[in-house]
Amino acid sequence: DLLLVSQDITPMEKLNQTRSDFIANVSHELRTPLTVINGFVETMQDLPNLPADKREQFLALMKKDSDRMLTLLDDLLTLSRLENFDPTHKLQPINLSALVEQLSQEGMTLSGGKQTFDTVIEPNLWIQGVQLDLYNALSNLVFNAVRYNPEGGHIAIHLHSSDNAANARFSVTDNGPGIAAEHIPRLTERFYRVDAGRSRASGGTGLGLAIVKQLVELMGGKITIESELGHGSCFQFAVYLAPPVLIDTDKAIT
Ligand code: ADP
Repeated sequence: DLLLVSQDITPMEKLNQTRSDFIANVSHELRTPLTVINGFVETMQDLPNLPADKREQFLALMKKDSDRMLTLLDDLLTLSRLENFDPTHKLQPINLSALVEQLSQEGMTLSGGKQTFDTVIEPNLWIQGVQLDLYNALSNLVFNAVRYNPEGGHIAIHLHSSDNAANARFSVTDNGPGIAAEHIPRLTERFYRVDAGRSRASGGTGLGLAIVKQLVELMGGKITIESELGHGSCFQFAVYLAPPVLIDTDKAIT
């Protein structure tokens, strides 16, 4: 008798493809600044008597690219920590209202008066989470609004609880350049950028929204992106004020 075993390997192939795309992307993102640094090191070795102003200039450029590599590595570590995160551990009650208030202030500082802000934050909304990761994720949305919005733009930051007080809705809305419809579903992919040059010029790693998505889903929420080219964008998500994913399973009665 003959036994035929067939297995659908498509999902496995897809996973391998995603993994190798990711490695190729990381390598490329690290190679670019490293090539610059390496070039300057060689130049300085070849020309030991460089005038002081040139030396300073080269060192400043090397610093900028090494900072870029550090930011990228920090984002990669955040992503990997979130991917392997066990939600039953290390959760703390977080005052989301206070965190959003702090982020609004930081957004205004980053903006330096270039944009106007409208901040409406319902006080005293608490969730369970990890303070640092939550800060990283929310700051990406606020800082993106500042980075991608031209001078004179407007940014609205809102935090409200739902009518039944079951969840909190956080949104950042801007009236900046907006994003064309075909890009929207792909924005939360790692390293996906609409305009790579512009993203890099403002210090972007292309990982910000991937981190936001990962964190929001970990908290049992979902991120929604609405945008219209030429009119602006709105990034929002809702999280449970008592997320079921965070219930301490050790203490649950089964
Ligand atoms: P980056 O580090 O490139 O900003 P993100 O993952 O944070 O990476 O964002 C992905 C892309 O989404 C950006 O490169 C940019 O093209 C687009 N984007 C994000 N936020 C906005 C915004 N508020 N307005 C317009 N485009 C945005």
